[in-house]
Amino acid sequence: MSILEIRVLGDPVLREETRLVDDITDELRTLASSMFETMYLARGIGLAAPQVGRGERLAVIDVEGRRFTLINPEIVESGGGTAKAEEGCLSIPDVYGDVVRPKTVRVRATGLDGQQYEVEADGLLARCFQHEIDHLHGKLFIDYLSVLKRRSALTKWGKEKDKYPNFIRRLPTDPAATHEHPDEEL
Ligand code: ZN
Repeated sequence: MSILEIRVLGDPVLREETRLVDDITDELRTLASSMFETMYLARGIGLAAPQVGRGERLAVIDVEGRRFTLINPEIVESGGGTAKAEEGCLSIPDVYGDVVRPKTVRVRATGLDGQQYEVEADGLLARCFQHEIDHLHGKLFIDYLSVLKRRSALTKWGKEKDKYPNFIRRLPTDPAATHEHPDEEL
């Protein structure tokens, strides 16, 4: 396991479609472990492979102790009306915006044991599933913002992005030094 560099907005990898995983190798297991480790250090609740510069259709999530490794995940059902809540993203540090999404989802994915599973979620977990699965298809939460809100988010990002040369965010290895924000980042 190792702490991975997080790619930030502007790195083309965040806009690329991922490729289906057809073999669960030791390398994939190590990648998933490193993604968990990186996500915890960054105080995030979800992290998708493109955010660490990888092309596998893989994401990890830990929402209030509910921990999932998602290989080739898909949303098979969504509903329950919609809800609006503020989102952030480990790949767009310090930028936040309200996103409207379906309240409930049913997700089908494969775990590291190779078994397919389904999980039904609502609340923050449902939002997190949708945000991470979007990442696996090159989509970011800012894409959902209105023109004006997106413009202001990008203006904010314009002032932040110089902190990340080559679109790389290196996490401080001392967790106490990690910035804190009351909202979860995904
Ligand atoms: Zn994100």
